[in-house]
Parts: sequence; C-alpha cells; structure tokens
Amino acid sequence: MKINKNYISGNNTNFSNKTIDVYDPSKGEVISQVVASDEHDFNHAIKSSKNAFREWQNVTPLKRSRILAKYKSLIESNIESLAKIVSEEHGKTIDDAKGSIIRGLEVVEFATGIPHLLKGEFSQNVGTNIDSWSIRQPLGVCAGITPFNFPAMVPMWMFPLSIACGNSFILKPSEKNPSCAIKLAELFSEAGLPDGVLNVLNGDKTIVDLILKSDDIKSVSFVGSTPVAKYIYQESSKYLKRVQSLGGAKNHLVVMPDANLDQAVDGIIGAAFGSAGERCMAVSVAVAVGDIADELVDKIHSKSQTLKVAPWTDETSEMGPVISKEHKEKILNYIDIGLKEGARLILDGREIKIQGYENGYFVGPTIFDNVSSTMKIYKEEIFGPVLSVVRAKTYSEAIKLINDHQFGNGTSIYTSNGEFARDFTSNIKIGMVGVNVPIPVPMAFHSFGGWKQSLFGAHSMHGMEGINFYTKLKTITSRWPKNINTMPEFTMPTN
Ligand code: NAD
Repeated sequence: MKINKNYISGNNTNFSNKTIDVYDPSKGEVISQVVASDEHDFNHAIKSSKNAFREWQNVTPLKRSRILAKYKSLIESNIESLAKIVSEEHGKTIDDAKGSIIRGLEVVEFATGIPHLLKGEFSQNVGTNIDSWSIRQPLGVCAGITPFNFPAMVPMWMFPLSIACGNSFILKPSEKNPSCAIKLAELFSEAGLPDGVLNVLNGDKTIVDLILKSDDIKSVSFVGSTPVAKYIYQESSKYLKRVQSLGGAKNHLVVMPDANLDQAVDGIIGAAFGSAGERCMAVSVAVAVGDIADELVDKIHSKSQTLKVAPWTDETSEMGPVISKEHKEKILNYIDIGLKEGARLILDGREIKIQGYENGYFVGPTIFDNVSSTMKIYKEEIFGPVLSVVRAKTYSEAIKLINDHQFGNGTSIYTSNGEFARDFTSNIKIGMVGVNVPIPVPMAFHSFGGWKQSLFGAHSMHGMEGINFYTKLKTITSRWPKNINTMPEFTMPTN
C-alpha cells in the first residue's frame, strides 16, 4: 500500500514508522497511509527549513516572482491530476475540486506581484536633512496547519505568500487527505524553488504540538475547527509566536420579501449542499423574512430533491460523500437532535444508499424548517449537507439572529432594496458579507477571514493581510551628509 511520506529538502523521507490510514470516502476503504511524524522528522524539517531560509531571504523578490510564475503554469498544466487527487481523498466532485485549485492558484498569481507588494513607504525630510522609510522583511521559518476540506486551496492561501515574502515554510496538511500537499510541493520544486523552502510534514496532534512549541518557528497559520483554532491561538501566543487561526462557521443567508426568489433558491441550494456542506463558507442557515417563507421553503424543498448524490467518478454527480465514518455519524446524530428539538424535517438524507458504494460516507441533502435560535442544530456547526430554515418576522429580527450568533465567518442578503443591502453590509457583525451572492469568498487580492469564534488573531489570510502577517515592519530614519555639527539633545525632537 502507498505510504505518503514527508517532503523535506526535495525528498520523500520519514523517520517515524507510525502511520495513519487514508480513506476513499466514496467507498469507505483505506486507499493509502500517511506517516505520523515524530520528533526526528520534526528536527529534520526544522534543520532543512532553517538552512533554506538563510539563502532564500536574500533571493531578490523579482527572482522569487519568476519562480512563482513558473509554478502557476505548472499547476495549470497539472490541474487534472491535482483535482483527481483531491476528489479521491476528499470525495468532492471533480469540477468542484478544480474550482478550489483555481481559487488557490489565484493566490500564487497574486504572489507573483511580490516586488510591488513589498514596496515600502518613503518620506523625504521628516526632519531637516532626515529621510525615513519602511521596509518589510521576512520572519524566518513559518508553519501552516490545514484542514481536510480544501486540501489544495487552504494550503495555497498560506505558503505561496509566505515564500514570496522570503520565508521558508513547513506545511502540516490534514492527515485525512495528505497527497495533494506533496504534489503541490513537488511541482514547486520543479518550478525552481530551492530545496527546503517548502517542506511538508505529515502527522497529527503530536507534530502540531512540536510546531507550536518550537522556538525555530516564527509564525503559525491555522485553518480548522473552532476548538482546535482556539488551542492553536492560545498555545502559539504562549510560545510568543505570530498567529492567525481560522475556525468554524454557521453562515446565514437572508432572503428578503423583495428578493429575486429563484436566484435566492439556487444560491441557497448550491451553497448549502455543494461539497456536501463541508465548506467553511457553506450556507447552513436560510433566514426567510416575512411572508416569503412558505414559497421559499417549497422551492428549496422541491429543487433539493433532484440533486444528484454520487461519487466523484460519476460526471453527473452534484454532491459527494462526507469525509469519514465518524463525521457521517456526527451529522446523523445532529439530525436526530434536530428532530428531538422540534424542528420540522422536510427532507431527510439519512437513508441514502448508492449502488456499488454502500460503504461510502454519503448523507443526502437534509432540510429542517421552523428552526429556532435556541436549538443545538442552529447554534453549532454541523459541517454537512444539513440546511436549517429560520423564519424571521422582520429584517431587524434577521440581523439580530446573525449578530448574536457565536460564529462570524460569512453571510449574505438577497434583496432588491439598496437601503436594506447598505444597512446589512454596514451593521452586520461578520467578516465576509455578500449581497445577492451566496458565498462571498474574497478574491486573492482581498483578504479572507471571519469575526468572533471564526478567527482568532489580528490577521486574515492572503491579500495585504497575508503580506503583513508574513513580514516584519522595519522603519529607518537616516541623516546625511555626515559633516553636521550636533549637540546632545535631551528633549524630544519636534521638527
Ligand atoms: P480540525 O480542526 O479537526 O483539523 C485541522 C487541522 O488541525 C488538521 O491538520 C489536524 O491534523 C489538526 N488537529 C486536529 N485536532 C488537533 C488537536 N487536538 N490539536 C492539534 N492539532 C489538531 O478541522 P477539520 O475537520 O480538518 O476541518 C473542518 C473544520 O475546518 C470546520 O470546522 C470548518 O469550518 C473549518 N474550516 C474553516 C475555514 C475558515 O476559513 N474559517 C476554512 C476551512 C475549514
């Protein structure tokens, strides 16, 4: 059986003999294994990353940019095989996998602008004959810890920018689908990235804890569930590291009575059930405002029934399985809880069976109507194809629901009233906001990140937030010429 090793200094290596099984979620079968790295693997990676950083920080931004441009074209020419790897280990449809790779690729594209992005600020004559300017310098060895749901895109939110800024980077991908990270690193080597600038270190909590404690690692970028995101933030801070830590979500889509209903219905269905609801920007709550509710629910219900649930190998599939047996059980348990709490189950995906894939981790589209804000299925992240419909009497009630929720990743409003749209974007306590778009994921040149329990730390991912996160600011004040008579000054200079 194939064993996914680590990718360190351009080689596939491992010290630890411990492995973790990797599954094909469509079949429920083990298809490979991944090394559960230990301290030896960790020390090997650190040594390699530190050595690589010494040289890489002095490579000019323009040369770094040219390697990134080559990397971009290599990813483009390998997109079919990358997408296949993602679909095989994650279960999402091949088109969805390709889409996610392209969203990651956009960060590589943005990073090719690094000579421009690193330009600092300059002020002539901040004092008489004194100039001042600022530059941004790399941190050193950076680390990224990523979730299972985007094996290509989320790592690509991190390492291309960090490396463009002159850092070396250690990526710890999800142990549930590690192959894509290795392939991405191999392609970067092929593009001309020096060995050790991007290392991939596989494993679980053991290796994460070594990363968090190491003095040699200067920053931690994390994306995953909220309890782990909190832990990463707290531990990284304890060990005095720079940290950006993105957590879970419960994203609401508000439908106003004046909305284009068909557009809203399509938006909700795609965003609730795409990728089996395993997206941090998935819409898991539809808020129907006023008298639009009955019609909205009927339309969502009838359209969702026609959704094709099938493995990624079936080209007509619109939704694949969830990631694991445990996760499927967790989702089914939430559906039971919703029923006990009194929500109205209008579409039940629990019993879905797919011929030839009986052991796959499939859950069909599931819809609860009449969900209230006190229910567990409303308050917690389910991370599966389960949509809750909450009925709100007024716009103010809808806004209050969202603002009071513990998560603050994404939200959207469907309306044809500009006044509501403007009020919504101004007053909603959420990091990423859409108007008549279901999933408002910012492009690479903007930044991605939520509020409240969806992000811990001061920085979002990519865009200028990413550049600032992966660099230290230095401000220089300089006086020339040298033949100036000076006297000691004991007061603050004020000119
Ligand atoms: P997870 O938190 O279980 O795992 C994420 C990473 O942390 C993995 O690499 C894993 O090995 C590691 N990890 C897991 N448990 C750990 C522990 N106890 N200590 C240290 N490290 C640990 O998340 P997941 O199940 O892989 O991904 C799904 C979650 O990620 C969902 O909650 C989803 O909302 C969230 N997510 C958020 C965003 C965002 O941008 N906010 C994006 C994608 C996914």
